[in-house]
Amino acid sequence: DIENIKKTYGDKIVLDISNMTIKEGKITGITGPNGSGKSTLLNIISYIDDNFSGKVKYNGMDFSKEVAKNITYVLQKPYLLRRSVYDNIVYPLKLRKVDNKSQTKYANDIMKRLEIEDLSNKRGQQLSGGESQKVALARALVFKPKLLLLDEPTSNIDSESVKIMEREIVNFNKETSGTVLIVTHNLEQAQRICDEVISLDLGKVRN
Ligand code: ADP
Ligand code: MG
Repeated sequence: DIENIKKTYGDKIVLDISNMTIKEGKITGITGPNGSGKSTLLNIISYIDDNFSGKVKYNGMDFSKEVAKNITYVLQKPYLLRRSVYDNIVYPLKLRKVDNKSQTKYANDIMKRLEIEDLSNKRGQQLSGGESQKVALARALVFKPKLLLLDEPTSNIDSESVKIMEREIVNFNKETSGTVLIVTHNLEQAQRICDEVISLDLGKVRN
């Protein structure tokens, strides 16, 4: 739940939202032209950016380490570790102290679902932009977050891979009831996979 969020750079207001509720267990799309504040909104919800006025509540709670553990944010230009794809994908499971056997099972399962098993031994830095986005999505889905934030996850992606990614985003939502917030320029994509679409313009919600 977002209440009276305002974000400014200098004297420019880039985000100004009085009220917004992202429905739990649903897929919500955020659309809007370049510079309308979409990434700024995800930065604030993920608390990567905590320099704003107003309130974000997570099931009634303020942001905390505990809340953060259940959120993942896939940046438009994902940052992968200088390790193998497999190591990148198990990393969030290691952080959460998931046992080794389950780590292997979950990582292999998500690579299979996203059809990236052949990338397993490649290093993060050797991947194309589109491959990196798929690996970043796998790394986000593997620990089944309660809130998944995606910033234009399919912007560099060929149409076959777009289908795979959309399918797995929807599967994730259906199977775990995880809440998804996805920024997309692609209105058809929003209509295909989102339960609700919010449109931003100049930092405000367009009605
Ligand atoms: P979108 O993701 O919708 O394309 P952003 O949220 O990235 O837009 O940006 C919203 C506005 O904030 C834009 O006008 C952008 O130029 C401005 N902006 C973003 N980051 C900064 C920054 N670090 N300093 C100054 N202005 C910024
Ligand atoms: Mg953006």
